[in-house]
Amino acid sequence: MNVIQTLRGIFLTDFLSAFVLGIKEMFRRKATVNYPFEKNPISPRFRGEHALRRYPNGEERCIACKLCEAICPAQAITIEAEPREDGSRRTTRYDIDMVKCIYCGFCQEACPVDAIVEGPNFEFATETREELYYDKERLLSNGDRWERLIAKNLEQDAPYR
Ligand code: SF4
Ligand code: SF4
Repeated sequence: MNVIQTLRGIFLTDFLSAFVLGIKEMFRRKATVNYPFEKNPISPRFRGEHALRRYPNGEERCIACKLCEAICPAQAITIEAEPREDGSRRTTRYDIDMVKCIYCGFCQEACPVDAIVEGPNFEFATETREELYYDKERLLSNGDRWERLIAKNLEQDAPYR
């Protein structure tokens, strides 16, 4: 067998094994998903975009205790508060600088009334830095938008907390 025949043999063997591999891969279950049209399931503990929750009657859960602000290692939370006429204490300002946030989840864990949470939304990329300075209105609207899923996730996670 001369050199040319040997090379031809090697080429054919390689070609055939690559061809067989290609055919096998065509029928194997895909490891990727067609994002954004398909999405992988996420854990109930997923730490996504922040939200401020309300009670079913529409009242804000947050009692302005400032525990979340105190525990935040990134100092991303800024709260101002004052008593209402009915004597309850509520925030007049609740900001989160999402650029500073490291998504540690401490704010959620510290909150005694499950008001501030990290919800399931991970699609909140922006074009400007300013859009990532969240105020109370933005956080409450996130809560309104995701409440059903947030409540379900908290319920699923409750036995392990
Ligand atoms: S997730 Fe962590 S870093 Fe982000 S706001 Fe909450 S406590 Fe601060
Ligand atoms: S979100 Fe929770 S921890 Fe933060 S101030 Fe309100 S009640 Fe306190």
